[in-house]
Formats: sequence, C-alpha cells, structure tokens
Amino acid sequence: MRWRLALLIVGLVAVVALVVGWVLDVHPVNHWLGVHLGIVNEPGPYYGFWSGFGSDLAEFGIIGVIGTAVYQLVKKFNCHEPKCLRVGTHPAAGGQFVLCYRHHPDYQGRKPTHDLIERLHREHLQHNAALHGASVDLQRPVTASAAPVAPDAAGPVA
Ligand SMILES: [Zn+2]
Repeated sequence: MRWRLALLIVGLVAVVALVVGWVLDVHPVNHWLGVHLGIVNEPGPYYGFWSGFGSDLAEFGIIGVIGTAVYQLVKKFNCHEPKCLRVGTHPAAGGQFVLCYRHHPDYQGRKPTHDLIERLHREHLQHNAALHGASVDLQRPVTASAAPVAPDAAGPVA
C-alpha cells in the first residue's frame, strides 16, 4: 500500500512540474502541442485538428472498447484471488468464486492428485446423500450406481 501512495505522490509532483513548466515557458510548449496535434500552418482554425489528431478520436474509442472487452474477459475467467493471473477453473464456496489450483482451499497450493480427486468426490457424494436423506455405498464405483441390478436377474441359476 505504501508503494501505491509513493507512486501517487511522484505522479502528482510530475504533473505539477509539467504545469509549472508550461506556465513559465508558454510559447515552446504551445508550439510543440500545435505541431503534434496538427493545428499549425493550416488554412482554418480547426481544419488541422479535425484532419489530424481529431480524426483519431473515434479510433481511441474503438481501442477503449476493445480494451474494456479484453479486461472483462480476463476478469471473468481468471482466478478470483487478488493479483493472481492464472485461469480459474475450480469453483469454491458453492460457485461464488472460481479459483486456480494454487489458491483453491481444497488443493493447498498443489495440483490435485488422483487420490485427492477421489477423496473429494466421495465427500461430495456423502454430502449430497446427507442432504437428500439417502445412503451411499462409498466402496461402490460411481459407474455402477446408474442402474441397480437385482441379485437374481441375470445371474446363472445354481
Ligand atoms: Zn489463483
């Protein structure tokens, strides 16, 4: 936070120095601005502006729109941890946040291993079963849970 305050103070001092320099030495600064804005040696007072710098105003708007769109896309898909630029693919807090594996509380800064994925999946199933009042057989593979089969339906008769 201190470096931001220092940067703000340096910026304000630079702006004040530029304004004071402009006021103390008006003519060269105005001439430099006139040349770079395209409003010197032109037949009309605003012709040079609109055929020079002023014609770029719409392009600045387009660049601003593109910049805003890119910013919004980055904010939508990156990790919600402040100052993290990774892509957030793991929902946290019931989907309120999307975090990268380094900042997701379940992963503790490491990429999820197969064991962790399996454990979290079992905990999720247990949680859902507790919510809906059903029991879950945690030893049964998930792929076998689609259609329960009666014990004597397809087996050989002994
Ligand atoms: Zn992150």
